[in-house]
Amino acid sequence: MAVPFRRTSKRRKRLRRTHYKLELPNMVRCEQCGEWKLSHRVCPHCGYYKGRQVLDK
Ligand SMILES: [Zn+2]
Repeated sequence: MAVPFRRTSKRRKRLRRTHYKLELPNMVRCEQCGEWKLSHRVCPHCGYYKGRQVLDK
């Protein structure tokens, strides 16, 4: 197995990790109640998906 020739410097390590970041979830307005919800998911507020009631409340 290959072994690194040099130890990665603090700067190199930190520069590499600047690309590790949280991504915002895809939020869209619900067409039924207007609340924010995740796209391609059933709305947690009214239980609608694609103009149809899929969850009972
Ligand atoms: Zn809704």
